[in-house]
Amino acid sequence: MGAKLINTNKARWLRLKRHFTESFTGDLLPRKGTQDEGHIDEARDKRRRSAYRYISLLLAVILLPIVANNFYLGEQLLAIAALLLLSILLLDIVLISLHREALLSPPMVVGISIGLVILSLYHGQLYSLYLLFPLLVSLPVMFKTRWAIILGVVAAATAAPVVLAHFDLTTTLVIFISAVLTWLVSSWLVYAMTEQSRRLKSMAITDALTGAFNRRYLELQAARALQDWERNRRSVSLLLLDIDHFKRINDEFGHDVGDAALKNLVGLIKERIRGVDTLCRYGGEEFVLLLSETTALQAKIVANQLRRAVEDASLLPQGPMTVSVGICDLRQVPDLESWFRFADAALYCAKDLGRNRVELAELPTLQTSDTAPLFNNVSMGRH
Ligand code: GH3
Ligand code: MG
Ligand code: MG
Repeated sequence: MGAKLINTNKARWLRLKRHFTESFTGDLLPRKGTQDEGHIDEARDKRRRSAYRYISLLLAVILLPIVANNFYLGEQLLAIAALLLLSILLLDIVLISLHREALLSPPMVVGISIGLVILSLYHGQLYSLYLLFPLLVSLPVMFKTRWAIILGVVAAATAAPVVLAHFDLTTTLVIFISAVLTWLVSSWLVYAMTEQSRRLKSMAITDALTGAFNRRYLELQAARALQDWERNRRSVSLLLLDIDHFKRINDEFGHDVGDAALKNLVGLIKERIRGVDTLCRYGGEEFVLLLSETTALQAKIVANQLRRAVEDASLLPQGPMTVSVGICDLRQVPDLESWFRFADAALYCAKDLGRNRVELAELPTLQTSDTAPLFNNVSMGRH
């Protein structure tokens, strides 16, 4: 339990570290050639747009008093520059909301804003330093590149002499520390949001009782496996595992013992499979294991090792528990439906032959090496 907690904390710490590292090394703006990655790019683009809209709004709110004050002081050049930027930002907010490209790219907006801060500072308008706060928020959120550091350092270095000339050391420190804190807090917020969406996503594809993937995820993975087979001829084996006489276990020892056995079984299997394999709870006491780049014969060896491990492990306090397994290799079937149906038929065979055993789907000779097989002499259905 303690070790698990340490592991979880370690994983969280590693993700946090990666997030900060990526915010300095990765590119937030979409790279050329990755547009066809479908919905992932779409989601990333959506996040980028909402971040940009949020930052633009923050900058606009700060720019408004700068425009007013400069008109009041007669600093026409500064006033017009700030007004121009403000108008562009407002227009950008509208364009982004309408899912159109913004007039100014994020680097341009930040660059111009920093220029404006510098100009205002040299005109003695120290309050324009407040513009640095939304800018600092925007840097880690929007850029995620080393430009975020460079721009931040340039802004701070330019502001430093002016601030030092007008304020005592304590005030200067307070200004800079609060600016750095703003930057850290905004980075933390982005991290927390990413963590939350990761947790929600993981909940949506996980079975709550056992921690294995759920049926929805299985369907996605199975469809992906079929595509991969069609494109790259990389086959996957499907193992359908069913606990023997589970109803009896429930009846004799109670539902809680049954639940614990399900959890222990998943723990045992997870320890013995590779990271590329997928274990899903198919329903009740049935599980599906997808083994990547594994033929049916190789899968049979793995299945027998798992079957023996289950038998040897004390998954039930009162005695052994066994599983039966049916296997079907994706190479042997034309579609997903048949893949599951043939694995189910093999499982039925294993049950019929006495349980606690592994059976391969009995498939007829293939028509060609890797196209659709003939299915006429296969037993189907278990129910
Ligand atoms: P067989 O060897 O032929 O597979 O027999 P079986 O008893 O395992 O199969 P059957 O399909 O008749 O029974 C499955 C049982 O699994 C019935 C149901 O009460 C139990 N079950 C399904 N889901 C859960 C669960 O989440 N927790 C517990 N404790 N039992 C469950
Ligand atoms: Mg069963
Ligand atoms: Mg069953």
